[in-house]
Amino acid sequence: MHDHPHHDSPHHDHGPDNRLDPMEARTRALETLLVEKGLVDPATIEAIVQSCEERIGPRNGARVVAKAWVDPEFAEWLKQDATAAINSLGFAGRQSEHLAALFNDAETHHIIVCTLCSCYPWAVLGLPPSWYKSPPYRSRVVIEPRKVLAEFGVELPEEMRVRVWDSTSEMRYLVIPQRPANTEHLDEEALAALVTRDSMIGTGLVSLPGEAAQ
Ligand code: FE
Repeated sequence: MHDHPHHDSPHHDHGPDNRLDPMEARTRALETLLVEKGLVDPATIEAIVQSCEERIGPRNGARVVAKAWVDPEFAEWLKQDATAAINSLGFAGRQSEHLAALFNDAETHHIIVCTLCSCYPWAVLGLPPSWYKSPPYRSRVVIEPRKVLAEFGVELPEEMRVRVWDSTSEMRYLVIPQRPANTEHLDEEALAALVTRDSMIGTGLVSLPGEAAQ
């Protein structure tokens, strides 16, 4: 997991040449050697990475979202100081990592990107999906966010404002999606189970199984 103090520093992920930073190069070399010597199975590594990307990591964010939905005081704290509110649940990031929570509502839909590399709120979402790091997503979401959203299957009403937030290593964002209707009977845990990773990036909405998202 790379990190970097400033976006203006030379950086592996900038531009199409795909140079690796020293840590990535070392990791890749080690992985290649271990696989060649038959010490690890690439499928196992892939399964671990996939589970960190899709399951383990985003479950932390989902718990933050569900708590914000059921606990107005927590939601207010999250709005005022997301870093502290999230740390209170035990999902501490690094000291330098400041988090901001972006609340979707009927007027505004938030979506996050790192236009220069892959800054992402690891403490709550785990590892970023590969499309998040891809140059097309990083450039297009700024230029044509609605088109990108449509490709993710998200159609928003014309009158809804779309705001795109550019993450940095100093400030990372977590989208708090809108709570679906007809979920008054669900407890915090059941609500958390509805929250998808993409809904916390802004490229998805939360819906009840079998119902269209709103
Ligand atoms: Fe970045």
